[in-house]
Amino acid sequence: MPPRTSRAIVQEGPRRLVLRELPIPEIDDTSALLRVEACGICGSDAEQYAGVLHVAYPLIPGHEPLGLIEKIGDAAAKRWGVTTGDRVAVEAPIPCGHCATCRVGRYPLCRARGGFFAHGYVRLSHPPALWGAYADYMYLDQCSIVHRVRADVPASVAVMFNPLGAGFRWAVEIPDTGPGDTVLIIGPGQRGLASVIAARAAGADTIIVTGLARDGAKLALARTLGADHTINIEEENVRTRVKELTGGRGADVVVEVSSNAAEPVAEALHHVAAGGRIVLAGLKGSKGVPGFVSDLIVTKEITIKGAFGVTSPAYAAAIRLIESGRVPLARLHTHDFALEDAERAIQILAGEVPGEASIHSCLIP
Ligand SMILES: [Zn+2]
Ligand SMILES: [Zn+2]
Repeated sequence: MPPRTSRAIVQEGPRRLVLRELPIPEIDDTSALLRVEACGICGSDAEQYAGVLHVAYPLIPGHEPLGLIEKIGDAAAKRWGVTTGDRVAVEAPIPCGHCATCRVGRYPLCRARGGFFAHGYVRLSHPPALWGAYADYMYLDQCSIVHRVRADVPASVAVMFNPLGAGFRWAVEIPDTGPGDTVLIIGPGQRGLASVIAARAAGADTIIVTGLARDGAKLALARTLGADHTINIEEENVRTRVKELTGGRGADVVVEVSSNAAEPVAEALHHVAAGGRIVLAGLKGSKGVPGFVSDLIVTKEITIKGAFGVTSPAYAAAIRLIESGRVPLARLHTHDFALEDAERAIQILAGEVPGEASIHSCLIP
């Protein structure tokens, strides 16, 4: 007998998660049911948990799902090219697919289905409720986007398609990074480390990563994953050091993935080379940027681009790299958590649990 209900973590409000049992929905010709193998946890889960990120409660969080197709309608199977039993990575956005924003390929910004319509962000009252991946099973809508992933990769590594996809889009695709480029990555969290891996895979010449004193282990890992130099910003003068490491030119590409502090955005203008590109992907809680000298953008002809989310080509590149086994990705993975430990998983990621530090972690239902 197939199960009739699924366990799911429901967020009822800020810092309020409860484990519930919800009915597994029927699927039709165009939809599918995913048996969740793993769900990655990232900084936005912590913001959602804390109530900093505004979402409509109650809902099931979890926007980085990896799983097996448990059931699928014939039309969906044909459209997606997958069948029952296949392992897939699921993108968070569930775009409408045909509004003006979708048609130009910026589908993570689609708002045609009412706000940000995505796995992990749809309220429970919207049938069939199982929209998030903090659960045993998740519903796949006709507009969900899936990528097939080889079954022999450990789930905790395969689920890294999400942060690694961000690395490919933010550090390679958007700034058009290629051979010969010097890339400076500000912030050594999972997105920063993913940026190191992606920039290295794209043939970047020199990769530099900055972090705080408490980031020592992450900076060491950055070097293992391909960074040439790391800078502890509390002990070294970053402007001077970047100049030294780039022969006085500055970095061709600067990727800003630190969270909260706005100062690095102003500093990026000093670190980038004339004609260079800056990608901003770290959210700063709607703060202004102190000391932002816009003249530098003019006089150095700097290009600044924002990055929100990831699109399919970058996920595809990430999945190919994961399947190749060329990079020791397991080194990034620090924690597996059971579904019922979701709250602790988020608190550890947010640095709220003394003595525990995570880089990449996931829930394994
Ligand atoms: Zn995420
Ligand atoms: Zn759309």
